[in-house]
Amino acid sequence: MEHTAMGNYQKIKVPANGRKIGWSSGKLEVPDNPIVPFFPGDGTGPDLWRATQMVLDAAVDKAYDGKKKIAWMEVHAGLTALKHYDKDTVLPQETVDAIREFRVAIKGPLTTPSGSAKFVCLDCAAEQSGIDGNRPKTCAKCSSEWVTPRFRSVNVGLRQKLDLYACVRPVRWFKGVPCPVKSPEKLNIVIFRENTEDVYSGIEFEHGTAEQKKVYDFLTREMGKKFNPDSGIGIKPISVTGTKRLVRMAIQYAIDHKKPSVTLVHKGNIQKFTEGAFRDWGYEVAVQEFRQHVITEQEQWDKHDGKVPAGKIVVKDRIADQTFQQLLLRPDEYSVLATPNLNGDYISDAAAAQVGGLGIAPGANIGEGVAVFEATHGTAPKYTNKDMVNPGSLILSGVMMLEHLGWQQAADLVVKALEATILNKTVTYDLERQMTGARKLKTSEFGAAIVRNMDSPARVQVA
Ligand code: NAP
Repeated sequence: MEHTAMGNYQKIKVPANGRKIGWSSGKLEVPDNPIVPFFPGDGTGPDLWRATQMVLDAAVDKAYDGKKKIAWMEVHAGLTALKHYDKDTVLPQETVDAIREFRVAIKGPLTTPSGSAKFVCLDCAAEQSGIDGNRPKTCAKCSSEWVTPRFRSVNVGLRQKLDLYACVRPVRWFKGVPCPVKSPEKLNIVIFRENTEDVYSGIEFEHGTAEQKKVYDFLTREMGKKFNPDSGIGIKPISVTGTKRLVRMAIQYAIDHKKPSVTLVHKGNIQKFTEGAFRDWGYEVAVQEFRQHVITEQEQWDKHDGKVPAGKIVVKDRIADQTFQQLLLRPDEYSVLATPNLNGDYISDAAAAQVGGLGIAPGANIGEGVAVFEATHGTAPKYTNKDMVNPGSLILSGVMMLEHLGWQQAADLVVKALEATILNKTVTYDLERQMTGARKLKTSEFGAAIVRNMDSPARVQVA
């Protein structure tokens, strides 16, 4: 079991009462008191995190009679990092190093400025142009001194630096959650979204720049392509390596959890050498590496008269746009989905909406021996410090984390208590406004109600 000395950190306090998670033969080795890095995130993140930590700690304590306990270790990223470190450091290297060293982390949502201005205020997120391109001393809107140069997404940076190549999002309905479809219980899928490539690789050239002109000239003169010279240009790389490791993880998950199918979702009819290749390489992994476990949908019809032999997983593929309507019209025909980055981004949010919204949709970013669990929604900045938003997404991401640690009893306890709390119609504003006769709870009260319902989930308690 690997338990090497712990790294020296400048602004991160390593808890003395915890031990490092080990890694041996491709598996985690989890002590009873694992050190787990966390960062609450920006905006509503701190409210969400307080409720989440309370629920996870209570579940672990109750499930294991106090014999197991997570030693939480705060690390910094996003706006908080700018206040702890250098003003322009949104993703400090030691945060990345600590997550890599301690292997399992959990995070709240982080801000990403989205306009074209050169600077952004960290307190109110207003965009600023600056005078002659210089950084303004204070924010024009709220007078805060925390005006910083624009930065790229910290989430994307984290995924790339830690090579967290799979974004895993289970989507299922929780009884009692209001939602827009008639039979929400029919959707029960796990999406494996490639996390490092595609249009997210950050290879972009802005219209009007020398770089854009160089790329434009190369593509038109040397490659014979035709398009408007006043275009912004983005590159979409999808590789054999990136595709195969993602599809491998999805198929292995389907085998481990006895799932009936894996669907490769692509837009290969239009983008043949990227999305089409994703489909082809996905099938290659299936038949070359998992032959004894899988049949392709083609084989299902050609060799088995449309029937699936017992114990086999069907690997099939669907065009991305068609997948959206299939998930709505025939949701129970889908189980595990493997997708390139952009398709996965769209599909996971649409699927989450189908079963009641992002407020309770969890997620994880997983790489080789390292994983970061996270809420799937953003920072919901207008609700900052109002103790109001739904912590369900972050709590359920914590459930995925407990499962990843092998602490299934604690994970099950949280899910049962969360279900009981929702069934009891004691919910946060987002669900309350869609239910009749529900009682609106604050974020912290919702967390406390879940903890109470761990004791007797069958006899649902009103907060
Ligand atoms: P958002 O923060 O997800 O919020 C959009 C709306 O979704 C909110 O106004 C709210 O709807 C609802 N919502 C979000 N979280 C909720 C929760 N926990 N409980 C209940 N309702 C919730 O999306 P955004 O406004 O587009 O993005 C804000 C910032 O978050 C941006 O800087 C963006 O880059 C960032 N972001 C971060 C992540 C991440 O860290 N993983 C993901 C997405 C976006 P109502 O107004 O209807 O109540």
